[in-house]
Amino acid sequence: MNYCPNCGNQLPQGASFCTKCGGKLGVYQQPQQAQISPEDDKKANNLSLISLGLFFGPSALSILSAGISASTSAGSRITAISSALSGVCTLAAIVLMIVARVKYPKNKLAKIVMWIYIALFAIGIIGSVLLILACAYACRNC
Ligand SMILES: [Zn+2]
Repeated sequence: MNYCPNCGNQLPQGASFCTKCGGKLGVYQQPQQAQISPEDDKKANNLSLISLGLFFGPSALSILSAGISASTSAGSRITAISSALSGVCTLAAIVLMIVARVKYPKNKLAKIVMWIYIALFAIGIIGSVLLILACAYACRNC
């Protein structure tokens, strides 16, 4: 939408003269909206949610199956399936998050999901380093 720099009258797109004061229009234009469209935002949110579901779904399933009964054949089967799936799902989740971040860089949820993954990754690295250090310490003592 254009506005007259003289009187602020709202003008149709592409007008070269103000219809109210007759002033010639300069380069002044309402700055383009920097936000992404709500439709794209919705798509990015969906991608992020699917990504989160893929990331945490298998873990939730395995915890659930362990909670129900690990001793029954059905429970152990679910545990085996979910552990096999978790690798693939984690990878798919990360890929989806990257797609959401690249296609919709301004989406907040995708950004939050990215930071969740980075935080978990960092915790995983710190945890394994601590574990190695603890093992090394234990081995030196015995
Ligand atoms: Zn005007």
